[in-house]
Amino acid sequence: MSERLRVGILGATGAVGQKFALLLDGHPWFEIGALAASDKRVGEAYGETVNWKQAAPMPEPLRHMKVQSCSDQLDCPVVFSGLDSSVAGEIEQEFARRGCWVFSNARNHRMDEDVPLVIAELNPDHLELIPVQRRKRGWRGAIVTNANCSTIALAMALGPLQQEYPLDRVHVVTMQALSGAGYPGVPSLDILANVVPYIGGEEDKIESEGQKILGRLRGGRIEHADFRVSAQANRVAVEEGHLECVSISFRGKAPSMDEVRSCWSQFRGEPQRLGLPSAPPQPVVVRNEPDRPQPRLDVWTQKGMATVIGRLRPCPLLDYKFLVLGHNTVRGAAGASILNAEYVFRDRFLGQ
Ligand code: NAP
Repeated sequence: MSERLRVGILGATGAVGQKFALLLDGHPWFEIGALAASDKRVGEAYGETVNWKQAAPMPEPLRHMKVQSCSDQLDCPVVFSGLDSSVAGEIEQEFARRGCWVFSNARNHRMDEDVPLVIAELNPDHLELIPVQRRKRGWRGAIVTNANCSTIALAMALGPLQQEYPLDRVHVVTMQALSGAGYPGVPSLDILANVVPYIGGEEDKIESEGQKILGRLRGGRIEHADFRVSAQANRVAVEEGHLECVSISFRGKAPSMDEVRSCWSQFRGEPQRLGLPSAPPQPVVVRNEPDRPQPRLDVWTQKGMATVIGRLRPCPLLDYKFLVLGHNTVRGAAGASILNAEYVFRDRFLGQ
């Protein structure tokens, strides 16, 4: 086995950054070499400055690490970014320019033509855009992005179907967890015993990112898939896990419900075939009970990396309707980025 790769976390103090810290602690391929956040924390010990909000304890080796600035050279060939989108764009570009691989969760570069928007199970071939990106921008490094957290769960449900039965229309209503808004996020007086029927910018992302992920790479560019999505996003008083009510229709004759179920249950991607360290053994889990999935009960399915689907039934307007649940900061952010990085560096560690 090769020596572990030194990785940095940008935005290490945030909701996504803390999940990176937990998931990378003891990782077999990656070793945390730097933690960076905003300049007000520079030089402080991570354990002193971070407002740790995870149920699991802070990894001991990180407690005394000094927080660095995102404008420092971090001496890491790979960085994972949980940066706020108000600053992520420039900072991530600078790291890529200097020769770093950047695995980003921010929206800034997701829809750039030469930036792959990757879910490792669905479109790892889109990483072939990296040479195009490097040529065009003159970078030695690269930016690889994750989709929005709601889009990732939705795409994990749509992707296995789209491969066999092309989709026509998708209607989705999300119930999104509070941790999706970072910390401190939505004020308690706004959300307690309430639902907030608006999340700025979210619906646009859900309506467009999935078509890029499920699009085809041809001649150095992505041809977006041509199904249409209508989304309504709501913030609910749940800590972790975005639950989505989805209705879909197909272009041709709809598959049977058994075919849809088996398409999901049997779906496996490259991460499963390769046995990547963070790959959930079964990426899409179908529940048959009438009242599942539920965030509190199901969000940690396969360490938070599986997408859980339930209540598949005929839809009076489109063909079928169902529920999808995804862990927003694990599968929808840090875990998905780490899986993308494992795929990128697979040859080095698996010798394939
Ligand atoms: P968050 O809790 O607000 O964390 C933001 C991070 O950015 C903090 O570490 C913060 O550092 C850092 N930051 C802010 N301004 C900075 C500056 N000027 N220079 C350097 N660092 C700065 O947000 P989050 O929920 O973790 O989200 C992080 C990113 O991931 C966002 O782009 C978000 O859209 C995306 N995302 C979030 C989720 C989710 O479920 N939460 C899911 C998918 C994608 P300080 O603590 O020092 O201010």
